[in-house]
Amino acid sequence: MSKTLFEKIIDREIPGDIVHEDDQCIVIKDINPTAPTHLLVIPRKPIPRLIDATTEDQNLLGHLLLVAGKVAANAGCGEAFRLAINNGAEAGQSVFHLHLHVVGGRPLKWPPG
Ligand code: AMP
Repeated sequence: MSKTLFEKIIDREIPGDIVHEDDQCIVIKDINPTAPTHLLVIPRKPIPRLIDATTEDQNLLGHLLLVAGKVAANAGCGEAFRLAINNGAEAGQSVFHLHLHVVGGRPLKWPPG
């Protein structure tokens, strides 16, 4: 299996603007930000889509949420930020390696449109 784009960033084969790294995940700045803060929380494990995760991944998924909250705070988002996961191409997923979008730093309307 060829590596995903995010595995290549994790393995330093292509550059990424890394803001956090631990034994389970990496956080990078999105290359095409939709807000002043737009981070991607990416598990080292290349789970293609959220629906491909299993109960084996339960602790990892919880870890990703906790990291998302911390990096949002560190980025200065205060208490106003949004997490998004695009699951499947029709939902806008373009990189098939699970990732959480952390978006903040501007007013965020709901529904997002
Ligand atoms: P999604 O469309 O939910 O799969 O999100 C993929 C995200 O990855 C998009 O927001 C892209 O802007 C972002 N992206 C693509 N290539 C890179 C890269 N080399 N470094 C950082 N972010 C990237």
